[in-house]
Amino acid sequence: MRLASQHMLGLRRRNHTRGCLLDGVELRLRRAVRHAGMSSRAGHPSGVDPMMDHATRVGNRLLAALPQADFALLAPHLRKIVIQRDSMLVRSGDRIEHLLFPLSGAIATIMELSNGQTVATTIVGHEGAVGLTSALGGSRSPVTAVVRISGAALQISTAQFLTAQNCSPAIAAMVQVFTRSLLTQLQHVAACNALHSVEARLARWLLHIHDRANGSDLLPLTQETLSELLGVRRTTVTHVVSTMRASRALKSNRRGQLEIDRPRLEAVACECYKILSRRIDRIVSHGTVGRANRLQRGAPPARMAVE
Ligand SMILES: [Zn+2]
Repeated sequence: MRLASQHMLGLRRRNHTRGCLLDGVELRLRRAVRHAGMSSRAGHPSGVDPMMDHATRVGNRLLAALPQADFALLAPHLRKIVIQRDSMLVRSGDRIEHLLFPLSGAIATIMELSNGQTVATTIVGHEGAVGLTSALGGSRSPVTAVVRISGAALQISTAQFLTAQNCSPAIAAMVQVFTRSLLTQLQHVAACNALHSVEARLARWLLHIHDRANGSDLLPLTQETLSELLGVRRTTVTHVVSTMRASRALKSNRRGQLEIDRPRLEAVACECYKILSRRIDRIVSHGTVGRANRLQRGAPPARMAVE
């Protein structure tokens, strides 16, 4: 509690120099700090107090790395929701009303062309966020986001997130880190789509999804979904799945479930999988924590504070 109060004072000093409108922010921050001192979660409107929920708090790597006082700006507005498989979180062109910070599960962002063709551009899990590009100034989503593996997420309205971001260099830095990881992923996907075989690309997408599937080798993916991810016809998907079954990288594909053999799948995938996974991990791990610590010297990131 004392630590949170010290952070709050530090934040207020910085905000004065930035000329932020503090009235509403201070009220929310004080409310968040009060939550931190409560033993019950009943005080939070959603019934879940993210400030006090260890598993919830560390579930998203971007949020977990925020210093205590900066996370406190967001905490009162975060609502834990279930994200169901196949549900569409936002459609391309829609106004971005909410940001989502996944705690588990996998979300694919899909680019839809005017002729109805689709192709996946990114897979997002607990290392990222959905809708965070609105923090860069865009109000409408450039992509459609669809849940591919069910899970949970913390939701916050765009307006409330932007208010917090305007008064928190650490939250602004978190947006930069996410943007770097997003650009890295998009660059790799562009190169991969142009240079690597459909089979290698499918293996890469399956590995990215498996990384976010809580260890299950059964992935709930239909051939229609694979066609949507790869941007190829169903007949091509049928042929590639058949080839991968012959090589035993896929053990079975029945009733909309793909059973994978991970080591064999890694052998089929192009180099993009390992390079991309490593780079994203490095950006999120070192970028977020390092920036947060530099911005708020002496304040441990939230992940350290709650462990
Ligand atoms: Zn590739």
